[in-house]
Amino acid sequence: MTPAEFTARKRRFALALFQQKLDVALITSPVNVRYLTGFTGSNSLLILTPTTSLLLTDPRYAIQVAQEADAKQKRVVKGPLLAQATEWLKEKKARWIGVEAGHLTYGSLQTLDDQLPKRCKIVPLDDSLEKQRALKSPAEIARIRHSVDVNSQAFERALKTLKPGVTEAQFAAEIDYRMRRLGAEQTAFETIVASGKHSALPHAKPRQAAIGAHAIVLVDMGAQVGGYMSDMTRMVHLGKPGRRFADLHAAVLEAQLEGVAAVRAGVKAGDVDAATRKPLKRQKLDKYFVHSTGHGLGLEIHEGPRIGKGSETVLEEGMVITIEPGAYVEGFGGIRIEDTVLVTKTGCEILTPTPKELRVL
Ligand code: ZN
Ligand code: ZN
Repeated sequence: MTPAEFTARKRRFALALFQQKLDVALITSPVNVRYLTGFTGSNSLLILTPTTSLLLTDPRYAIQVAQEADAKQKRVVKGPLLAQATEWLKEKKARWIGVEAGHLTYGSLQTLDDQLPKRCKIVPLDDSLEKQRALKSPAEIARIRHSVDVNSQAFERALKTLKPGVTEAQFAAEIDYRMRRLGAEQTAFETIVASGKHSALPHAKPRQAAIGAHAIVLVDMGAQVGGYMSDMTRMVHLGKPGRRFADLHAAVLEAQLEGVAAVRAGVKAGDVDAATRKPLKRQKLDKYFVHSTGHGLGLEIHEGPRIGKGSETVLEEGMVITIEPGAYVEGFGGIRIEDTVLVTKTGCEILTPTPKELRVL
């Protein structure tokens, strides 16, 4: 990311502040601080006004903040960052102060209330920063591509070790190891490996349980590379799959393909969700599809837009989303197929290179 990119992000967000009639925004979530300044330290507070930016952190990050953060002013302070921020707000006579309602703790809000003069009004920021983050720049898209590639390569390499007797936890560890060897900073989330009936839990935790000789294996994995996430779910079957599983897999694959085909700039996210449900409904399998079709991803594994039932959000060129229908049958097993795709003017580009047909090992 170039300094120009961070300047552009801050400028755009400053415009949103102006539209909300706010004097200043207090950005306390590390991910939004990273988005606006590039700073990756775990303790920071960004004060942003339409004309300036001040980034506060503690002495552990003195060298790092100088190296990586893009902000007009940077201050390394001892003690609570919020106390410093309130001093600054008093000094500058700020009145309308926007905070991240989903992140600022109740305790911090009380501190602000106690320490700021009565004329100060603390209001929640609207979702303009989330909306801004949903639209990816070319540099961000390049990072997501890299993340997706690392993720898919790690899957192929790890797959060589998958055989009956390996536990779900061991295979998940193999995936994580491969990801790190290929350049990921960490996994985007806790890798899901679920075999047999356990795969009916959409967010199963890998168990210390051996994968059987004839078993469904659901793998949901993502990497974080250069700060950016990837997300993919694939189905593997050890031994020849039974008819019921093969049919269910074919139905979910059809739903996934229909969902991908519905993605285009100008289309409502809710319509994409409906498109993935339709083929499942035809086969009376829609009751087994218990979650949303997908989500945006970027610096976070789950961010805007939500691709769910009734979502009025209109897809735009440059959004990166997942399409991940599933069917989960208690007592039998579950199937999910998930790609990461880039929304384009005329449709979408599937970023995930891994084939999504069932792998039989
Ligand atoms: Zn996933
Ligand atoms: Zn996902």
